[in-house]
Amino acid sequence: MATTKKPIRSKKAAVAKTNSIKLKFDTGWTYAPAPESKSAASINKQYDLFINGEWQKPESRKYFDTINPATEEKLSEVAEANAADVNKAVAAARTAYDKVWKKMPATERAKYIFRIARIIQEKARELAIIESLDGGKPIRESRDFDVPTAANHFFYYAGWADKLEYAFPNRKAQPLGVAGQIIPWNFPLLMAAWKIAPALATGNTVVLKPAETTPLTALKLAEIIQEADLPPGVVNILTGAGATGAALVNHPDINKIAFTGSTDVGKIIQRAVSGTNKRVTLELGGKAANIIFEDAPLDQAVEGVINGIFFNQGHVCCAGSRLYVQESVAKEVIRKLKDRMSSLLVGDPLDKNTDIGAINSKQQLDTILKYISIGKKEGAEMYESNCRLPNKGFFCRPTLFTNVAQSNRIAQEEIFGPVLSILTFRTDDEVIEKANNTPYGLSAGVWTDKGSKIFNLTKRLRAGVIWANTFNKFDPGSPFGGYKESGYGREGGLHGLLPYIELTS
Ligand code: NAP
Ligand code: MG
Repeated sequence: MATTKKPIRSKKAAVAKTNSIKLKFDTGWTYAPAPESKSAASINKQYDLFINGEWQKPESRKYFDTINPATEEKLSEVAEANAADVNKAVAAARTAYDKVWKKMPATERAKYIFRIARIIQEKARELAIIESLDGGKPIRESRDFDVPTAANHFFYYAGWADKLEYAFPNRKAQPLGVAGQIIPWNFPLLMAAWKIAPALATGNTVVLKPAETTPLTALKLAEIIQEADLPPGVVNILTGAGATGAALVNHPDINKIAFTGSTDVGKIIQRAVSGTNKRVTLELGGKAANIIFEDAPLDQAVEGVINGIFFNQGHVCCAGSRLYVQESVAKEVIRKLKDRMSSLLVGDPLDKNTDIGAINSKQQLDTILKYISIGKKEGAEMYESNCRLPNKGFFCRPTLFTNVAQSNRIAQEEIFGPVLSILTFRTDDEVIEKANNTPYGLSAGVWTDKGSKIFNLTKRLRAGVIWANTFNKFDPGSPFGGYKESGYGREGGLHGLLPYIELTS
């Protein structure tokens, strides 16, 4: 890949020798590659299932490959759990719940969760490298966001473990039992932390299934859990595909299902648990509106839009994939966006300069390309940056569409890639109606100088999270979750405890 070459300072040489990163601003130089070293990460050739505190061979006897989407090289092979493995893991979680975890004083439980947080911090560099290798996200994201935020979630919920009586005054918080947790591929370690930390803090035990394409950091977390001496069976980690998730959802001895993923699978899960007494939370897809008013600080807003849809390859459920810009400033904003897009660096996820890494899988790249061609067929006008893409791996140029109609599929459906649909508006009422006009309601962003406008919009936008003059900001103390087809239940903050407890007086 071009980014492994030596730094080149002259503009001519840059174009002739690397052709990798053409900056439209004609700076005369390109970035020197700054790759993070793979050698700081240790990845086994093969991983078994983590059941009852041990690595156990799968009953299925099957293993599947996980690859690096930036190079298409195999990283490791991981076990495929079948229904018999799910039985073993749920039985281990049940025994651990009955015999150990629910009886343990909360202050002791908290110490284990703190210990996990501390070990994540100690291994932060290795976890970030593995996250970028296995999933394709830029190391800057995994290093500066995913891994520290995962550690912060464990710290935060460790703090609540022995304070539940203050969280819910005059009520008694009882754990539910065994939680089955299923997570997607876009934030593998962070989603595992979002799920496991509140479950443990409230006294539940866990069986977690990571996504098929990104199992490695969850398996590293299993090693961390072993190192933290968590009692066997309190957390079990089963790798596998959709069928493994379905076996978990349908297992009769599960008390709660926590799912993050697509709305389609969320609906299947909703149907599967109806008529049972399993509790469920669903964190599903999104089609966030980022709204720029004419009085907004435009450069800041443009940077927020770029961050909201292009960083992390648009693999973010709350990605600002629809931009509504007030008509009077639309031309200027679109010009600024195009300029900024031309300086985005697409390439090696391990390079610290990279803005946009690899698309997570061939399947996801095909989905994104399908939507780009739908957008063109629908009559929208496409613009993509002219950066060169690496020869191997799954990559996509940052792309935007103008002349988009509200009814176009690229304005309604989740693309989950670096593709922005731009629409315009004139009045507050109009933009609120348009922004709310999708089946989703996960997040939104508002850019304006006026506090009153922010309050008007945050009251009337049907979205679980609304950022004002910023975008994609997360904190373990603040709840996250959706409206409508974006799911229900909240993760994070005090609200994130509720899905894991029964409150009695
Ligand atoms: P997905 O296909 O729904 O998969 C999510 C998880 O469910 C994976 O572990 C998957 O296994 C598993 N699964 C697949 N079929 C299943 C079934 N029938 N029963 C039980 N589990 C099953 O979603 P994805 O493509 O991995 O992730 C992208 C989606 O997640 C996007 O729609 C995004 O918006 C959403 N997301 C939402 C949030 C949020 O907080 N609201 C956060 C992140 C992502 P395999 O990996 O083997 O298919
Ligand atoms: Mg992978």
